[in-house]
Amino acid sequence: MVVNHDSTPSRKALPASTLAQNPRRYSRIKVETGLPIKDEVEAYTVAVALRSALAEQLGIDARELGCATQRVRNRDGTSGRSIFLYDTASGGAGYVATASQQLVDLLRAARRNLECPRQCDSACHGCLLSFDTQYRADQMDRHRAACVLSESALMRLDVPDQVKRFGAGAKLELRGLRNALRQELSRPGVKRLRIYLDGRLDRWNIADWSVAPDLFRWRTDDVEVELLIPEEARDGLDPAVANLLANLVEVSGATLFVRGSLPSTEALAVEIEGSAGSVRWVVIDEDGRAPGADWGCGTESGICIKAVSSEPRSDSHGSLELSASDLRRTPEASVGEVRIGSDLNGSARGFGVRFWDLVKGQAPRLGRQLEVGGPISEIRYIDRYVRHPFTVRLFIELVTALTPSGGKGTRLAVRSASYDVDHAWAHRIHHPWPQASDRDRVGDELARLRGFEPSFETIAPRHLPHARELEIVWASGRSVVLRLDHGLGYWEGSTAFDFSASHARQARTLNRTRLDVKARHPTHPTIVYVTAVRGAG
Ligand SMILES: [Zn+2]
Repeated sequence: MVVNHDSTPSRKALPASTLAQNPRRYSRIKVETGLPIKDEVEAYTVAVALRSALAEQLGIDARELGCATQRVRNRDGTSGRSIFLYDTASGGAGYVATASQQLVDLLRAARRNLECPRQCDSACHGCLLSFDTQYRADQMDRHRAACVLSESALMRLDVPDQVKRFGAGAKLELRGLRNALRQELSRPGVKRLRIYLDGRLDRWNIADWSVAPDLFRWRTDDVEVELLIPEEARDGLDPAVANLLANLVEVSGATLFVRGSLPSTEALAVEIEGSAGSVRWVVIDEDGRAPGADWGCGTESGICIKAVSSEPRSDSHGSLELSASDLRRTPEASVGEVRIGSDLNGSARGFGVRFWDLVKGQAPRLGRQLEVGGPISEIRYIDRYVRHPFTVRLFIELVTALTPSGGKGTRLAVRSASYDVDHAWAHRIHHPWPQASDRDRVGDELARLRGFEPSFETIAPRHLPHARELEIVWASGRSVVLRLDHGLGYWEGSTAFDFSASHARQARTLNRTRLDVKARHPTHPTIVYVTAVRGAG
């Protein structure tokens, strides 16, 4: 089961009938409990019992709350059902926002609501049927739901022994660490957010770190954001990862420190210092402290613990401050760099031409090769993060501009990674395709429309480098590699996109969509590192 508090939820997350009742805004709760529910009857019955439990606890009418379920795909590729509770009042009364903090108690109360005084077979007016649920009586079964909320399942949610040593107030964090931080940071009196990055360096993956885009919002005049990295990260990170971290520090305005080693048992991941003391989160799994896709939970126990203390740790005082440039690393074999800020803003159609004009200006030797090098036989691009139609469109503009007479005779090989999406309701050009295979098929179709001989391929992320590399190979045998530190994700643009259309149709739309492109953080340029042109000719 999943519960997740999200103050800016997708409008498409709930059935249209719900939106009609809440045209403006609603609160939604989604919390990972580790209880798998695959069956709609089980999920919906638990949802109804959970809603009653929350209404009883708050002393409000159940009509103030709505519930719904939805199929979701889990990270491991299996699917399950999420349960959503929401406020029915227009504007959101804020009732559900209180639920995630005491989810375990609520689930126990929900379990009691599945016991029927009339001992019915599935659901009746003595237990689960009410003003709205009576129309879905055939989709409820209290006995099956009781198996989901079994005593053994609920026991797994009890505070484990390892939590108790973090103090009397320590409890399991069920909101998800990112959501918990959003909520805690909205309280008055917050002074400092300190994130301890840890775990094996090869698990660091800034581009997949969910809170990276939040950091620059969280840092304000009143709130300092500090990132603390271990000593070995200073020189031991992959250059592409180090550069993205350096960019993040610059763009977010966070302060970077190298910290002394923490006792390994401490597992501290985040601390929020406020005027009244500090709130800390401990993440037990080591990979849950690495900035990447598994940050905040990890892949083994998944345990995140919240502990409250009246004493801040003040750990950064003895730490060494680093600037972003201390961290930045020039990739191997680079002979030049091209810095790009808002230079390429404008229509998508001319993006590629503007890009190469800038490269020719800042990397003249490559510029000459581009001018007089003759036909290009192959273009290879490796980028873990090609996920959106927007990215594919920009990429196609980039390579189209390299082959002014059309891509005919040029092979185009794109390798990108498989991914999991949390975005089940893609409808804009900058949303990810539901499946990596959609990207590959639409990419192939689009590249063919531009005359190339394409092959878009999906590779497991662990077999792809962190760096985004564009290699150009001329028929003469010469070649050059460009490394793009942000890839094409440095730019943004948005328009509606129909992901349900056939791949061919998506490609045709993508080929001609008029689109404005602009730099996400124009004051912090993206860097393209260029190698020497190799080979005879
Ligand atoms: Zn009953």
